[in-house]
Amino acid sequence: MKGEAAGFDRSRLADMLRTREPEALEEIRLAAENATLTALGNRVYYRGLIEFSNVCSMNCLYCGIRRDNGKQRRYTASLEQILDAAEFCARAGYGSVVLQSGERTDPKFVDFVEEVVFAVKERTSSPRLPNGLGITLCVGEQPRHVLRRFRRAGAHRYLLRIETTNQRLFRSIHPGGQSLESRLECLEALREEGFAVGTGVMIGLPGQTPEMLADDLLFYRKHDFDMFGMGPFIPHPDTPMGSAQVAPPGERVRLALLMIGLTRLITVDTNIAATTALQALDPLGREAGLTWGANVIMPSLTPGEYRKDYLLYEGKPCTEEGREDCMNRLRAGVESTGRVVADDDWGDPVHYLKREEGKRRAWERPDG
Ligand code: SF4
Repeated sequence: MKGEAAGFDRSRLADMLRTREPEALEEIRLAAENATLTALGNRVYYRGLIEFSNVCSMNCLYCGIRRDNGKQRRYTASLEQILDAAEFCARAGYGSVVLQSGERTDPKFVDFVEEVVFAVKERTSSPRLPNGLGITLCVGEQPRHVLRRFRRAGAHRYLLRIETTNQRLFRSIHPGGQSLESRLECLEALREEGFAVGTGVMIGLPGQTPEMLADDLLFYRKHDFDMFGMGPFIPHPDTPMGSAQVAPPGERVRLALLMIGLTRLITVDTNIAATTALQALDPLGREAGLTWGANVIMPSLTPGEYRKDYLLYEGKPCTEEGREDCMNRLRAGVESTGRVVADDDWGDPVHYLKREEGKRRAWERPDG
């Protein structure tokens, strides 16, 4: 399977996603793991995940913090609480944070995010991290001028999940008013504004076929993304999809691991996260994700008092433990797979660094 990234077409990918025989699964896993170690080495990057607000103006049908979930207690962490979590992250050797919240586009929210990004940069710069923590934003679709403000404030990576590239499936999990097209436009704007761009899909949705997931994988390659965060669909009881029929947990984990492995094989030098949703269905799910091609883990640094209120799905792990316990357990988990945690390192995707280097060279060319 080595060196044949270009040879994956839709029907082959769909067939691979149907793989159930242990030997065939192990062959794909091994190929993905080898591709990771060859392209990126054995380092695993941590991003301290700070879910700073669960207020959301959107109403995605699967999401526990959707606007119309009246049972959900709402919070927005203060600037000082966020900075405390970021400083903890910098002290613990994590080179980066992910600042995540529900989606809002009102001026108060945008001003706050900008202020937070500035302050995190300022507060975490040190001889160990001369440019402060690397900052990834995950705050939903935003207009271009807002993305530009966030980039200028110091954020340089952005996650915006597409959830599915299939029109019909997208419409079945989102209310009217949300569209695939506007998400694609935002992803395009993010790249043009110079962000490392991440996306991802939900795996195991009702009505989703291996062919649809194969299309998602081809979309990843076609649009040249830098980072991926994917996880199995886990129904949340207080949502319209709370009683949706889903495959058993083991089946969704199998499919999620295959998606990680195939994403690695077709995109090669990108960053892929082993997500908490994987761990929610399988206690060793995140470690398994690493052995299938993931190279990023996002331990939660959300202030303890808020952790239980950021449940996009049911059964999310690490909501009871203190942050030190959670992080120590994760480090042991990473080391159990033979990998090492890269301390004090932004861990930017090699794919992104190459693209930025290419742009720099083009600008420097006298005839460019
Ligand atoms: S998935 Fe994101 S945008 Fe949709 S309701 Fe949840 S937090 Fe809001």
